[in-house]
Amino acid sequence: MKLAAVPFNRHPWHRSGMVQVIDNRSRKPGQGARGAPGRGPTTFTAFGLAAEAEPLPAGLYVVATPIGNLGDISLRALQTLAAADAVLAEDTRVTRTLLAHYGITTPLVSYHEHSNDAVRERMVHRLRDGQALALVSDAGTPLVSDPGYRLVEAAIAEGLRVVPLPGPSAALAALVVSGLPTDRFFFEGFLPSKSAARRTRLAELADIPGTLVLYEAPHRLAESLADAAAVLGPRAASVARELTKLYETVRRGTLTDLAEAYGAEPQPKGEIVLLIAPATAETREAETRATMEDKLRDAMRQHSVKDAAALVAGETGLPKRDVYARALALSRQARE
Ligand code: SAM
Repeated sequence: MKLAAVPFNRHPWHRSGMVQVIDNRSRKPGQGARGAPGRGPTTFTAFGLAAEAEPLPAGLYVVATPIGNLGDISLRALQTLAAADAVLAEDTRVTRTLLAHYGITTPLVSYHEHSNDAVRERMVHRLRDGQALALVSDAGTPLVSDPGYRLVEAAIAEGLRVVPLPGPSAALAALVVSGLPTDRFFFEGFLPSKSAARRTRLAELADIPGTLVLYEAPHRLAESLADAAAVLGPRAASVARELTKLYETVRRGTLTDLAEAYGAEPQPKGEIVLLIAPATAETREAETRATMEDKLRDAMRQHSVKDAAALVAGETGLPKRDVYARALALSRQARE
């Protein structure tokens, strides 16, 4: 299907009512939506040069912004932020700093995780009215562990245009320097803050055949690494901290080594992404053996060494002889 060759308002989707397009291409620089007065010429500055931004067709523009280094913003993002009728920001103070850096004076409107249906309804009304709204979060790509999903959903439900402006995201930046497999990965975002719930979630993620990408708070990093090591075994992992900033660091090792290192050090500062490699035959065996020891200790509270070993060998599928040898060693250790 050659979408580009068919003017959008004559495309079958449009005629069937599945797509609604507001064509605003006739807007002149600075002219408001639907003949409204507008803000005058919209400009931005970069490298000490001023540039005029082209007027934008109506729609919701989802704009990625830097995760630390202000130079990581795209030219198209600057044009869009400058030309939009408003910038919807998670925290207007944070976004004001970014806009000021690039000489952009577009009005800011607050849109955050607690914004309710009434707020969304107002935004959808503005879009229906022909406005161009740019959605940003404090840093990175909106909707990725950040607000915006419900607004995008509401705009789509109304047949309004939603336009992505791709750019920085901590998840991908961390993945590409992790040294872990990148052919498949699973973005989990933040794990639960309580250890029991965190371990349950990690166990649910254990069989995912790709690198796990997790956002983590610095004060929970050591605990989360310890839980991950206990549940997933000594898998390869990477801790990416303060990416694109002055103190950017990437530490690589096994979960066990990283848990030990961070457990012994003062709490790290800054923003962190934790990445964990998928299981290998080796780590799976180490996980099974660790589980086997826990199971043996439990079983030996009620059964003889021989019976406990037979029970656990049946449960884990490990060779009876290995399990019995381990059971004997554990029982000897317990007597010493
Ligand atoms: N939407 C953002 C994105 O696309 O990356 C993520 C927002 S989420 C609320 C914030 C989390 O992203 C932080 O707690 C941290 O885990 C991660 N993060 C953000 N900036 C980072 C950076 N510069 N270095 C490492 N991790 C970062």
